[in-house]
Amino acid sequence: MLGLAEPSAGCSAKKRLLGMGHLQLAQWLHDALGEPLRTASMRARQLYHWLYVRGVGTISEMTSLPKELRLALENRAEIGRPSIVSEQISRDGTRKWLLRYLDGQEVETVYIPEEDRGALCVSTQAGCSLSCKFCHTGTMRLARNLTAGEILGQILVARDALGDWPSARVDRALTNIVIMGMGEPLLNYENVADAFRIVVDGDALGISRRRITLSTSGIVPKIERWGSDLRTGLAISLHAVRDELRNELVPINRKWPISELLQACRRYPVNRPITFEYVMLRGVNDADADARELVRLLRGLPAKVNLIPFNPWPGAPFDCSDPARIRSFASIIEAAGYPSPVRTPRGRDIMAACGQLRTAASRLRRSTNRASQFAAAKAGEAREPSDGGAFGGL
Ligand code: SAH
Ligand code: SF4
Repeated sequence: MLGLAEPSAGCSAKKRLLGMGHLQLAQWLHDALGEPLRTASMRARQLYHWLYVRGVGTISEMTSLPKELRLALENRAEIGRPSIVSEQISRDGTRKWLLRYLDGQEVETVYIPEEDRGALCVSTQAGCSLSCKFCHTGTMRLARNLTAGEILGQILVARDALGDWPSARVDRALTNIVIMGMGEPLLNYENVADAFRIVVDGDALGISRRRITLSTSGIVPKIERWGSDLRTGLAISLHAVRDELRNELVPINRKWPISELLQACRRYPVNRPITFEYVMLRGVNDADADARELVRLLRGLPAKVNLIPFNPWPGAPFDCSDPARIRSFASIIEAAGYPSPVRTPRGRDIMAACGQLRTAASRLRRSTNRASQFAAAKAGEAREPSDGGAFGGL
């Protein structure tokens, strides 16, 4: 969609199985391995089960497949899990993995344990093209979209580490998924949708749609489509209540302003409250008047407002609002009947909290001069979005 190259297959000519649904697997078993049509579907189902229910790490463990088929698979295919470059564990139990895909591209994935559940925060792109001013990932270039298999690979690696196989266990540590890692998921729509069809499939990873939340900065035309295709929970990165400020903080707002974004939310075909994420930036978007305007904007919409204390990163041009300011903001929203929890920052000590993810590759596109850019923008200087042209092809 953005004219990005798919990951190069140059480093391995083998077929990558992760990401394929059972129909694709059946077709490939027939076309590439000569599996007769009458058995291809059954073999594909077995393979699908080994990949996504049992979570095996090697083809040789797929013992219900005939030996000749296993050998043929070993020659022609690989599962395609990413390798773990490093793991960091926060004082609060949050775990962050730096993963490397077969072409060398790296992304981060974060597991956040809570008392009664555990959420995995998955990435959908290596980098991001959207340059939100408060986001560390936004200081990276977009290297490329992740494939469906690469998105699934993050979940598989987490399940390996958490001892969470097979999929049907009742005591799984990984119970929820938030699509809130690196990248804008709705700008990689097909791959994210293909991956999550396998995530929600009871014959595959088996995680309920109600336990999945997709977060978007506001790719309006894709919001409704996601609602009818996947029907997961939805979170909107709002962060400002007036277009003037949102144009600066979340530059995609220039293309789809707040009114259009909220209309798309009202049409979202899932009967659950929508979460509005609002990062608390001291002196920028945290006045009581902003809270009152937020209440006005949300009128009639089943919603919850997640207030996110700004998570700092080196060179960031913002500070987090004071706790008293956040409490005052929250109380105005709650008085209007909307739950307004303040998100407890998790994994800050290992740079795993919201907006702190960033891999070493393609360091420092803009972060060093963010502060001066923002100051200039506030002073009303006309300028193009710092990512000029990044929205092309949407
Ligand atoms: N691209 C998607 C999903 C990834 S960002 C989106 O923008 O929604 C996940 C959430 O973290 C978003 O709400 C984002 O606005 C927020 N975020 C980004 N940087 C942050 C920071 N430094 N502190 C707190 N939240 C941040
Ligand atoms: Fe991209 Fe989301 Fe970060 Fe904005 S907040 S730069 S859309 S990852």
